[in-house]
Amino acid sequence: MVIARTRSELDAAGAMGSVLVPTMGALHEGHAALFRLAREHAGPTGRVSVSIFVNPTQFNEAADFDRYPRTLDADCEICERLGVDVVFSPPPGVMYPEGEEVPVGPLPAVATEPGLEDARRPGHFAGVCQVVRRLFALARPRAAVFGEKDWQQLQVVRAMVRREGLGVEIVAGPTVREADGLAMSSRNRLLEPRCRAAVVSVPRALDAARGESDVARAEEAMRRGLAEAGLGLEYAVIRDAETLLGAAPGRAGRALIAARCGAVRVIDNAPWSPAGAANG
Ligand code: AMP
Repeated sequence: MVIARTRSELDAAGAMGSVLVPTMGALHEGHAALFRLAREHAGPTGRVSVSIFVNPTQFNEAADFDRYPRTLDADCEICERLGVDVVFSPPPGVMYPEGEEVPVGPLPAVATEPGLEDARRPGHFAGVCQVVRRLFALARPRAAVFGEKDWQQLQVVRAMVRREGLGVEIVAGPTVREADGLAMSSRNRLLEPRCRAAVVSVPRALDAARGESDVARAEEAMRRGLAEAGLGLEYAVIRDAETLLGAAPGRAGRALIAARCGAVRVIDNAPWSPAGAANG
């Protein structure tokens, strides 16, 4: 495994044409599952690259950026063990060189029109699109793997790639969960014990929504469960799975939640259809 920090090291390591998994590090089993999926897509002779970069432009709170866990040595060991070929861990000056403009726009409609993440984290998707474009330009991957855990991000990246003709196949990996159902996340290690116990209400609320027959009841069931657990609700909604606008009959729906406990924000999502009919 090669650890590349610059563009020329990345070229020399053979990142071009690889299957790339962009991450911000503090790796966990959710990331590991994406690396395995990347390996399946690359095939035994193809190359798998993982980028590790805590991207400042997608954080809308300085405190969140400062306390974001950084565990590069442990991350590289995980990558090595999982057969990753190239780790790209650039210093900020390589991602955003002084005097070189890295475009931020335009943003796909699915980033801004549905509200949701962008309404709560203004500028977040501008930062995500900026860093993904930059990573694709530097690494020139054939395909890139993203997690369903960040559902709106997945739709935004897909829309951006389609609209800009970036020529990178986007592969989605299912959400990996703890034994009690909590979606794995690098921020989970920041949860104080009382919050770790409370946030299990998030996947439970998604389960409760699945049993409801219409959108209003499903949203109500989610909100009730989150309020009972004492979480700060940001949103708990049923939307169209692709556009993230209002759910429409005959189209796949998605239940999406964002809630807070203490200083930590938890997001999660699950497939939804009226009366729980299976839709993936
Ligand atoms: P992050 O390091 O949080 O920026 O995440 C890097 C990638 O891993 C993103 O595509 C996430 O959606 C994905 N990811 C994060 N947590 C999980 C999880 N629990 N299961 C599957 N994928 C995940």
